[in-house]
Amino acid sequence: MQWEKVMGLEVHLQLATQSKIFSSSATTFGAAANSQTNPLDVALPGTLPVLNHSAVTQAIVFGLGIGADIGRVSRFDRKNYFYPDLPKGYQISQFFQPIVKEGIFDVPMEDGSLFPVRILRAHLEEDAGKSVHDAIPGHTGIDLNRAGTPLLEVVTEPDFRTATQVVAYLKALHALVTYLGISDGNMSEGSMRCDVNLSLRPKGESEYGTRTELKNINSFRFIERAIQIEADRQQDLLDSGDTVTQETRLFDPDKDETRAMRSKEVANDYRYFPDPDLLPIVIDDDTIDQIRASLPELPTAKRARYISDLGLGDYDANLLTQDRATAEFFEATCTICNNPKAAANWIVGELSAALNRVGNTINDCAIRPDGLAALITRIDDGTLSSKMAKTVFDALWAGESDVDRIILDKGLKQVSDAGALEAIVDELIAANSAQVDQYRAADASKQKKLIGFFVGQAMKASKGQANPQLLNQLLKEKLSAS
Ligand code: ADP
Ligand code: MG
Repeated sequence: MQWEKVMGLEVHLQLATQSKIFSSSATTFGAAANSQTNPLDVALPGTLPVLNHSAVTQAIVFGLGIGADIGRVSRFDRKNYFYPDLPKGYQISQFFQPIVKEGIFDVPMEDGSLFPVRILRAHLEEDAGKSVHDAIPGHTGIDLNRAGTPLLEVVTEPDFRTATQVVAYLKALHALVTYLGISDGNMSEGSMRCDVNLSLRPKGESEYGTRTELKNINSFRFIERAIQIEADRQQDLLDSGDTVTQETRLFDPDKDETRAMRSKEVANDYRYFPDPDLLPIVIDDDTIDQIRASLPELPTAKRARYISDLGLGDYDANLLTQDRATAEFFEATCTICNNPKAAANWIVGELSAALNRVGNTINDCAIRPDGLAALITRIDDGTLSSKMAKTVFDALWAGESDVDRIILDKGLKQVSDAGALEAIVDELIAANSAQVDQYRAADASKQKKLIGFFVGQAMKASKGQANPQLLNQLLKEKLSAS
């Protein structure tokens, strides 16, 4: 039987606020355990939640960013469950009336097409604490620093059919929220956590099958792997006539398997009801207009502009807009050197490769836009050959910053002075009459090969600094003129 994967995603984004969603505790990642809690986070009796305004604004920013409807009246509800990292015994979330309603998010695919993903909703909620299993031997500790951190949970319709689509969506979502400045999207620190709901159905069938939920997978690579393994597992079950149990499963990258965590609570088990301690959030047109006017240019628009106005290809435009820092670096470089194609080539090529080798992001490397732009300017004005440019790039990478200084210090100036090159060429022709005769007697295709000898000799004579285009041109002229 041919099976088709059906997937829907729930992504928890930690919002970039100074303080928690209902209390004044800080939300700095990595602080000492339980140093960022207050009476509300640990659920002392008599405490009351006070809503953090900026979490609401950020949720609206997100909603407008994906062109979704904003819930003009939204509310908080209690989601009841028992777990050690949840002292209140319930999580404050939005169930009945979320702040962000339906929207469509266009995801750029590598082939240049857009893949529209239907967003079902995005709601505000508080994060839970963390169980810590490796701090105290033989015991489990509880760290409540994260309890009450503002989250935006973004839920899609089951629109995904391939792991490639899922990863493209997550990358685009990451780009969007970092552009909007509402989350740092850092997966390894848990600022972006992804649950994949997956079911199979026979190809051509329109009904969905029973789904499982893969929880909290924290890298793109693991997501692709987890999807494949879980799909294979479900397929084995279905092919042998068994059924899939609706449950939450955990992907274990070490064992390369998924396994059941707990059977999936049906929504009723959470006994959602409106939180009586919090008033509804009412959002008026003015607020929405103001927030809309403050939105930056979004990745999809940027990408389209890079292609239509700057003449970049899909691939470069995709990579350059994948995070805001890279796009800003690119734009700053272009503003100085006015050569978008060259700037794109260097950033997507040499610079990305160098960053990947050391595992750094564009903001923590020594090369800055002004350095790269100066390098490009010196290629464009003929001072540097591409080989020399690579040497200058390496020097910039190593921490030097003045391109002209590097060129001077390393004696990298390309000889583009026609007079100087002419002298070299004339000397060569005079000293190698046999080769010159051979060249002149040869047909065009042979000449192409024979000219290499002269190029090599001239390069040697110029200590490798002759401008190759100019040299070729001069040689062709002089050799043909008998
Ligand atoms: P829950 O609270 O159980 O996680 P939600 O309705 O909030 O349920 O989210 C369910 C997620 O699962 C959504 O992203 C939705 O698109 C997806 N989904 C629902 N049904 C299926 C299915 N049969 N196969 C795959 N994904 C599904
Ligand atoms: Mg879920």
